[in-house]
Amino acid sequence: MVADNLKSVLSKLPPEVKLVAVSKFHPAEDILEAYNAGQRRFGENRPQEFAAKVAGLPGDIEWHFIGHLQTNKLKLVLPYASLVESVDSQRLLDAIEKWGSEHDKVIDVLLELHLGAEETKGGFTEEEILDIFRPDRRSSYRHVRFRGLMGMATNTDDQSVVEADFARIEALKNKLNQEYGLPDFTELSIGMSHDWPLAVKHGATIVRIGTAIFGSRS
Ligand SMILES: *Cc1c(COP(=O)(O)O)cnc(C)c1O
Repeated sequence: MVADNLKSVLSKLPPEVKLVAVSKFHPAEDILEAYNAGQRRFGENRPQEFAAKVAGLPGDIEWHFIGHLQTNKLKLVLPYASLVESVDSQRLLDAIEKWGSEHDKVIDVLLELHLGAEETKGGFTEEEILDIFRPDRRSSYRHVRFRGLMGMATNTDDQSVVEADFARIEALKNKLNQEYGLPDFTELSIGMSHDWPLAVKHGATIVRIGTAIFGSRS
């Protein structure tokens, strides 16, 4: 079933958009089923589960970390993540820089822009992100490679609200690209199972799809 679902998603996704199969809460066997069907990029959102799955699964998987990361859990994630998509606070960004400096490693990250109305969702404001990119500040991050932006649209059936969220994050990415011309700053990770077609319309280069591949998590 997982393999069929994967095939169905891939048949609709433009080939240049990268698929992160979000396997959180699902067992290793399900991941292997997708792996055996050709999928190599997976996403997890809890550090402990992330580290356990990395250790138990094939070494050529590209792991993305997509959840809230506490600064005392960096060692479970940073050695193994190809991309930390969910850098959602100044404190975390600074902790990653420090960890990278201590381990002589450059960490690829996306900055998470707070979208939508939900109070509980984390992420930076646009002003905070623009401020990070001021050349004097950006150059102090020598162990962080800024690869793009990540966001989660408002959870609603109202497509116009979702589109407005995606349009806002797309505009911020374009603005940063225009102002600073950063060659590595290419990724826009937006779109989940229920809203990824709209995300693709708004420039998504990465979509993070869980339920539509692995089924519900309950
Ligand atoms: C769980 C999760 C997803 C996938 O959500 P689905 O609705 O199952 O596709 C995508 N992004 C993040 C950050 C998530 O936590």
